[in-house]
Amino acid sequence: MTAWDALAAKRAGVPVFAPGHVWLAGAGPGDPGLLTLDALAGLAQADIVVHDALVDARVLALAGPQARLEFAGKRGGKPSATQADISKRLVALARSGLRVLRLKGGDPFVFGRGGEEAMTLAAAGVPFRVIPGVTAGLAALAAAGIPATLRGTNRAVIFAAGHGAEEDFDWTPLARSGQPIVLYMVMHNLERIVAALMTGGLAGATPAAVIASATTPKERVLISTLESLARDSRAQKIEPPAIVVVGDIVTTRARLIAADAMTESEPK
Ligand code: SAH
Repeated sequence: MTAWDALAAKRAGVPVFAPGHVWLAGAGPGDPGLLTLDALAGLAQADIVVHDALVDARVLALAGPQARLEFAGKRGGKPSATQADISKRLVALARSGLRVLRLKGGDPFVFGRGGEEAMTLAAAGVPFRVIPGVTAGLAALAAAGIPATLRGTNRAVIFAAGHGAEEDFDWTPLARSGQPIVLYMVMHNLERIVAALMTGGLAGATPAAVIASATTPKERVLISTLESLARDSRAQKIEPPAIVVVGDIVTTRARLIAADAMTESEPK
């Protein structure tokens, strides 16, 4: 009996993947331990897994022996399928009678374009379900020992995308909120966004961190301040994918590490 069979035997109501259906699932940030049981059920039953570049190889390794893996997404330097092509591909695969697992890094609906895929499937009349995933913003903070919310420190947490920051976007209200800001897809625009947040009123000394490749063996954590963040991360050659977090919650990491009881999530 495999671990999956043992688990499925104990769990009432494991969802059954029907032919011609699509499951739009989150793969989490990297560590397969952060998959949901429903995503695991999808991997075990799928005929085809259509995944993006952020889905960790260790997650794909959990697919059943019958499953074919198909890459669809952006990959640095190479021409990538457009979102419309990917959505159409999901419809075509489902119509050919396959059980289609669409696996996306983190959560499919958090800066993941899962909403567009869901709308295309709905319009085409293809039955689908959405399985949320652990989003990188929360997983990276947890891995770094930074609580996303902390009583007495913040009562909201802001998730924002740095990609497209060259477009018209007013960072001032975010800076003024006094609440921590968690930035995705920010490394290419880091200088620009840091400057905008400081212009918006955030002090240069505001604690800030970068967490790269969270929950993978390549994980790196850099602690800095808002004004030094861009320079420090360039100096240390921090590469995407990375999450940036700005706010007082960052200082909790030092206290948790000082207590020396926090074990790493991943063997290094
Ligand atoms: N749907 C995904 C986000 C896709 S946008 C989710 O919910 O997590 C891609 C961005 O996610 C990257 O640019 C990076 O900011 C972040 N990201 C994804 N995986 C990450 C990881 N393992 N560590 C740090 N950041 C990650």
